[in-house]
Order: sequence, then C-alpha cells, then structure tokens
Amino acid sequence: MGKVLIIGAGGVATVAAHKVAQNSDVFTEIMIASRTKSKCDAIVKAIGRPDIRTAKVDADNVAELVALFRDFRPDLVMNLALPYQDLTIMDACLEYGCSYLDTANYEPKDEAHFEYSWQWAYRERFEKAGLTAILGCGFDPGVTSIFTAYAAKHHFREIQYLDIVDCNAGDHHKAFATNFNPEINIREITQKGLYWEDGKWVETAPLEIHKDLTYPNIGPRDSYLLHHEEIESLVLNYPTIRRARFWMTFGQQYLKHLEVIQNIGMSRIDEIEYDAPLADGTGTARVKIVPLQFLKAVLPNPQDLGENYTGETSIGCRIRGIGQDGQEHTYYIYNNCSHRAAYEETGMQGVSYTTGVPACIGARMFMLGLWNKPGVHNVEEFDPDPFMAELNKQGLPWHELHDVDLEL
Ligand code: NDP
Repeated sequence: MGKVLIIGAGGVATVAAHKVAQNSDVFTEIMIASRTKSKCDAIVKAIGRPDIRTAKVDADNVAELVALFRDFRPDLVMNLALPYQDLTIMDACLEYGCSYLDTANYEPKDEAHFEYSWQWAYRERFEKAGLTAILGCGFDPGVTSIFTAYAAKHHFREIQYLDIVDCNAGDHHKAFATNFNPEINIREITQKGLYWEDGKWVETAPLEIHKDLTYPNIGPRDSYLLHHEEIESLVLNYPTIRRARFWMTFGQQYLKHLEVIQNIGMSRIDEIEYDAPLADGTGTARVKIVPLQFLKAVLPNPQDLGENYTGETSIGCRIRGIGQDGQEHTYYIYNNCSHRAAYEETGMQGVSYTTGVPACIGARMFMLGLWNKPGVHNVEEFDPDPFMAELNKQGLPWHELHDVDLEL
C-alpha cells in the first residue's frame, strides 16, 4: 500500500491513471505531474476523483523533480513521460529515495538509438539505496517479457526460439497517424532491424524482412521484423534462446506515408535553421527546428484517435523449445484488445490501453511487496504468476495455444 506519482499526461498516463484510481485498495494517494498541468487536471476530471493531486514538472530537470518528490513523498514514481526522461527521473528517485517504474528504455534525444546499458548502469546505486527500479512494464516491452517468463516457468525446460508478434488490426479512419508519441514511434520504425541468432545480433535494413502471419480473430497480416528493446534483456535472462525476433504489422497506407516522410526529410532528428515569418508581419526570424518534432505538431494526437477507432490489437509470444516432458513443443500466448472497449473505459485507444494497464499492474505488484527487489530489473526477472492473474482481472485477458503451427 502506498503513494504513487505518475509523470506524464499523454495517452498511456491517462489509461494508467484510470486504472490506478480503480485500484484504490493499494494506491492510498495519487498525484499526476507533467509538463502541462492542465492536461493532468483534465485526466482527474475524466476520472472524477478530485482527491487526485496534480502538478507541473519539467522531468528533464532533476532538482525540480526532487522538490516535487519532497512535497508529495511518493513510494513509487511511474515514468509515463518519454524515454528521454528515464535517466533524470531515475536520478531524482535516487536522490529523494523512492522506487521507479517505466515502459520504455532510455533514448538520447539527438540519436535514434535505444538500449538498456544506460539504465542497467544504475543497478548498484538502486541496490545500495534499497530501492526497486522496474524497467519496461508496458505491453511490449512488458507483458511480452512476462509471457516469456510464464512460459519458462510453467511450460518449457528450454526456450529455444522466441518470436514476439504485435498486430494492430485497428482502423482510426485517418490517412496517417501513429498510435503513441509520433516522434518516438517514427524513430523506432525507421531504424535498422535487429534480431538475435546463435549468440549474436544480426542486422537488417529497415523493414527489410517481412511475412504474412495469422493473428487470432484477425487473420493474416503482413508483419515486419523490427529491433525491439525486450529482446535485449530476454536473450540475457534466457540464455537457451537460439533465436529471438520481434514482428509488427503495418498496412500499405502507413508504409507509403512513412516512405514519403523519410524521402522529404521530415523524419530528420537533427536541427535545421529556418527563416520563420514574424507574427506581426515585420520580417523574419532565424529559428532552429527539428523536422520530426515539427511533424509531431501537425500529425493527429494519438490521444484523440480513440473515438472512431474500430478493430483490435493482438500481441503475443510464439515459442518453440523443449517442454517439461523433454519433448519439443510449440506455444502461443496472446492477448487481443478491442480499441472500442478501451475507449469506452478510459477515453483512449487500445495501444495506450495495452501499455497503461500493465504499468498499473506493475505498480500494484510493487505496492503489494510482490515485485519489491532492490536494484534495476527488467520485468521478466520478477514472479510472473501474480501479474498474469491481474491481467485477467484488469482488462487484458490472455489465451494459450499448445502445439500449434507457429508459422515461423
Ligand atoms: P505522449 O506523447 O502522449 O505523452 C507523453 C507525456 O509526457 C505528455 O503528457 C508530455 O507532456 C509529457 N512530457 C514530455 N516531456 C516531458 C518533460 N520534460 N517533463 C514532463 N512531462 C513531459 O506519449 P504516450 O503516452 O503515447 O507514451 C508514453 C510512453 O509510453 C513513451 O515513453 C512511450 O515510448 C511508451 N510506450 C510504451 C509502450 C510499451 O508497450 N512498452 C507502447 C506505447 C508507448 P505534454 O502533454 O506537455 O506534451
């Protein structure tokens, strides 16, 4: 039982705040803090719990964060802002003395590159301080890593092949939009592909490898091999894995827009100088803009997609290996999530929902002392069972298929 501080007021934070409010048996006090306080206030109004406190904070500024933590005195901080803020928030947690949870690994602003080394470097400091840092507690990373831990605990002596498959078969009825922060999303998808095979990383051109995969209740969808962060920790925590890959579906319309965005330079993350006309018409001013950040400002806001979103997501793990009986087995564990149901419950679409719900469950695990382990940990390092039980209760039920054709 304890006090939780949510940082960020975007789609994922909105869902997590709804869920945290529903779990008032463990979260005794709640605060939502973000760059724009009015967005935090709007979430509180939507939830209808005026006792939830809100605040303005710049999460890039450690001193500001520490001052806020001293005022609210959280037991756990849920970082649902952007991956750029991971390290400053972890620094502030250490300085004040509270635990930490996030859904995406650190990424420097000026380099489209993500890996866990920056956050794993905090292990000793969290351990010495007796504080817990839970990394990657969304759906992917997050539930996919917990599905893998559950498979390893209950079904496999040796996991040898792991394919994480992420399908969004929804339709938001926009020509082009991303389902979470457009800047982070486009940086992720335009990177080179990467997968693990026979003890080493294999690199591919961006979106080079793709194939049709069949998703439950959806059917076949073209699925592309991407680099995704959970593979990095899973191959370390399950050294029997010979090959680990991540696949995500994209429609032709999305890919066509993405190609144009890249070709015309709008996915660039370096600064360019631009002569912007002054509002009073008296001339121009030389300004610096980052094209991808400008693009984010004109694209649909992922938080506004929910109302007309139809269809569902299907995310899961396809695993092959040696079962507990010593024989080879295949296993497919997945969740399907309806965009409409997510919207009706929280006002957000399914991608925010499938991220915000696991973040709340991870926080619940921490508050109950079930996932309270000093140090910096990826979610598969904790006991998957109580988390899996909560998924069924909190809106993300899962299903298992045994000895089926994995197509991979
Ligand atoms: P949004 O862009 O909708 O929300 C981000 C929020 O963070 C905004 O409210 C923003 O403020 C706030 N913010 C940004 N910078 C700062 C700062 N310096 N100080 C304080 N607040 C700040 O993103 P999403 O909700 O879509 O995504 C949130 C996180 O979830 C991201 O890290 C994303 O990568 C991750 N994610 C993880 C997934 C998973 O399955 N593991 C899947 C999807 C997303 P403002 O409102 O003023 O802009």
